[in-house]
Amino acid sequence: MLLKNRLGDAPKVYFKPEFQNCPHCERKLQRSHTAWHKKISTLDGVIDAWSMAYTCKNPDCPHAGTSYKSAEAEMLSMKHSSYGYDVLCLVGELRFKRHMMVKELADALNERGVKTSERHAQNLYERYQVLLAASLDDHVRKVLAETTEQNGGIILSMDGVQPEKGNETLYVLREVFSGTVLAAQNMKSGTAAELQTLIKPIIELGFPIVGIVSDGQHSIRLAFEDLLPDVPYQYCQYHYLKDIAKPVVDADRKLKTELKKSLRGIRDIERKIEKAESRAKENVNAAASASEHEQATAQMAEAGIAKKYIAATRALLLEDGDPPLELPGMLIYERAQAIQASLIRCLDKKGALAPRRFRQNIQQNRTDDLHLR
Ligand SMILES: [Zn+2]
Repeated sequence: MLLKNRLGDAPKVYFKPEFQNCPHCERKLQRSHTAWHKKISTLDGVIDAWSMAYTCKNPDCPHAGTSYKSAEAEMLSMKHSSYGYDVLCLVGELRFKRHMMVKELADALNERGVKTSERHAQNLYERYQVLLAASLDDHVRKVLAETTEQNGGIILSMDGVQPEKGNETLYVLREVFSGTVLAAQNMKSGTAAELQTLIKPIIELGFPIVGIVSDGQHSIRLAFEDLLPDVPYQYCQYHYLKDIAKPVVDADRKLKTELKKSLRGIRDIERKIEKAESRAKENVNAAASASEHEQATAQMAEAGIAKKYIAATRALLLEDGDPPLELPGMLIYERAQAIQASLIRCLDKKGALAPRRFRQNIQQNRTDDLHLR
């Protein structure tokens, strides 16, 4: 038994199923409960992983109530283990290639920041052997048959773990509903053709495969697409986001800078409005007739509206978003467009009174927007 707090504080990472819609009826899956949560020691540090289960709540679906979990969360660690596959894989390598003894294994892991003891190192080494021995025995067949009966099919996922650059990669093929390891093998190159030797025997068992999940790795994708071209394919969001996030976030930062530049004149406009407002105020006080008073009051009201637009535009500049999921540049762009559309509607209402030059400016800015894309 591991002590709950052995791993200390760790960042929480929530995992949702890769499939957002029910593979049977296409209805959007809804959050149902926490499938599990545990702290996992990886070579990159400890994470507090939460696997959230989603279900199909369509009463007409033949598999309503089936729980879907994140394949990626399952890929983090073996069942009942708080060590990541990368740690497991490193232990295998250190033991088999460098013939380390258990004491040396524990020291090597601790040196890399993975807190462990001799007993745990021994346990990891045994687990590594169990993993590689995974075979399609009767037990696995039985689990797959039960999974199919309960869920209408099986979902396959594959992941490659490489603890050290340039060494062999451990490929693990898994069934996602049950979390069962179907095959695991160390490979030097891991070409699509090599990976298919792990996948084919599963397909030959004949259970309906309703989905596939993997990280974006090209050879894994090819291997599956070739063998199962018609099965829906999903990428791990966490992996995928980490990979695509950087260029997208960089491009978004550029967009944000450009947009901010285009809003530079805001202080001048603010001053003009303030002047117009105080002039209107004076006119209200000095009004000699009812109609003059009415006109001046309307000018005051207009200045008030213009100030609100300025406030909305100022608020834009403070938008930080939450990259990579909420990109600040995109957010500013979308909101600026909404403000612009509202301004045009406002001017249209005012009709002929709207200064022509202002309208032209807005049209001009619209075409400037197009250049930003
Ligand atoms: Zn359904």
